[in-house]
Amino acid sequence: MTSSVSPLSTDLAARKLPDSLGRFGAYGGRYVPEILVEPLDRLEAFYREAKDDPDFQAEMRELLRQFAGRATPLYHAKRLSEHLGGAAIYLKREDLLHTGAHKINNCLGQAILARRMGKSRIIAETGAGQHGVAAATVCALFGFPCTVYMGLEDMRRQALNVFRMRLLGAEVAGVDTGSRTLKDAISEAMRDWAANFETTHYLLGSALGPHPYPLMVRDFQSVIGVEARAQYLAISNGKPPDLLIACVGGGSNAIGLFHPFLGDESVRMVGVEAGGRGAGLGDHAARFTGGLPGVLQGTRSYVLQDDDGQIAPTHSVSAGLDYASVGPEHAWLRDRGRVAYTSCSDGDAIAAARMLSRLEGIIPALESAHAVAEAVKRAPGAQGQTFIVNLSGRGDKDIGIFRENMPELDA
Ligand SMILES: *Cc1c(COP(=O)(O)O)cnc(C)c1O
Repeated sequence: MTSSVSPLSTDLAARKLPDSLGRFGAYGGRYVPEILVEPLDRLEAFYREAKDDPDFQAEMRELLRQFAGRATPLYHAKRLSEHLGGAAIYLKREDLLHTGAHKINNCLGQAILARRMGKSRIIAETGAGQHGVAAATVCALFGFPCTVYMGLEDMRRQALNVFRMRLLGAEVAGVDTGSRTLKDAISEAMRDWAANFETTHYLLGSALGPHPYPLMVRDFQSVIGVEARAQYLAISNGKPPDLLIACVGGGSNAIGLFHPFLGDESVRMVGVEAGGRGAGLGDHAARFTGGLPGVLQGTRSYVLQDDDGQIAPTHSVSAGLDYASVGPEHAWLRDRGRVAYTSCSDGDAIAAARMLSRLEGIIPALESAHAVAEAVKRAPGAQGQTFIVNLSGRGDKDIGIFRENMPELDA
């Protein structure tokens, strides 16, 4: 092994956060109505106990293996790498998991926790429906009644996922407030939780929201980075990869890949936000270039807002990246300079999806295509380097959007 790599990551400052108040430096925390403080405290206490319990860990490992299909491969995309003529590109194949994306990792963890807490019902929020489907899936597996809050506009756009959730036995509760999209669904789920927390677990879908969610979701998703790190070190004689790339919506697949590598000082990391159709407010979801620190839905992070501090509308061709705020740990890593953040346009993401499909036989989710596009930009000229790209999900759900954007294939 080279000296920069230890079996466990050594950046203690990075590994110890969040602090006891759920803060990552100036970010994170718990900005909630008084009534939710006690349920969040209880959730944190149960989580901390479960985390160190070998029975919990064993059940989690078994479900990840037998139900979700872990470990996922770390696949050397040779034709893509050759085509670009530079870095060796490896794909962490989260797209091969049951339900088609990384979200199942978090849902399984929270479902086991809900059962340990004696809860009899689960609620969740969803934007495009990907988290809703993963939540409905684990609720079917565990026998929990499940209500998924979803904006009416999203229900209209994502009718197929609404049907999937119902097929899995979940109730989809339409939300008719605000812009009728994800942030309105989160607000409605919080209201339900405040009224029903004695019986109900709120299964939040990304590394967002009030403490302990950003911590807990990061830990459940860290299986991605733990696996990728071991898989890569095993084939590289212990030499770490040069660059990690992941798309950043709420930030859960990215922090899941990045966190286990934070102590490997030579490893650079880049998170890719949705650059949408342009730089104007309302045309993208690039919180780090277009946003400012602020509080949204229980946590302090970078938020897209107008001059009066009102939450700005967002746009992305990929629904999973289309949110006005970003997980607080990313805000901290960005200010510290440990992780770089950039954005990718709708058009570049679609072009990258097409390139990966043709060269590797892998149709990526549009979200994941943002990360692939960053590899496409950086690989030429990066001879001798290795990139690991998190392929967070598969593209089946996005075929309709690909069709609209590739009319020449649809004659
Ligand atoms: C939901 C989703 C994302 C974005 O969520 P993160 O919490 O940022 O990971 C990315 N990729 C896919 C495939 C998704 O379904």
